[in-house]
Amino acid sequence: MKIPFAKLEIKSLVTEEACLALIADQKWAGGFTCRHCGNTNYCKGKTPYARRCTRCKHEESATAHTIFHRCRIHLPEAFRIMHMVCNEPAISSYELARKMTIRQMTCWKLKNKLMECVSEKGEIDILYSGETE
Ligand SMILES: [Zn+2]
Repeated sequence: MKIPFAKLEIKSLVTEEACLALIADQKWAGGFTCRHCGNTNYCKGKTPYARRCTRCKHEESATAHTIFHRCRIHLPEAFRIMHMVCNEPAISSYELARKMTIRQMTCWKLKNKLMECVSEKGEIDILYSGETE
């Protein structure tokens, strides 16, 4: 479930939905399995790219169980930051904040989180084993 952020065409990822599509593609690359009942059939959920189990009706958003869960900035902005961090791991949170016009503390937190999951090739494993819904 690794996304090569360093090589992403971020110019095409300027909307929330485009980012969600990519996250959903990666997250469910191996197919959908309901976390509650194990069913593999799903239908569309209420939010874009969410999937809803056809048996128990449990709905899972595209960002649940990923590093984007409860992301406090817009996904296109998070993607741009990830692109920059993957290409230039030494970039400071001050520089990110200036380029993105986002609070430095927010950039610092996101960068720290990213540094834990980025590989040497600039890929980020988007599945997050920590806190869930
Ligand atoms: Zn289910």
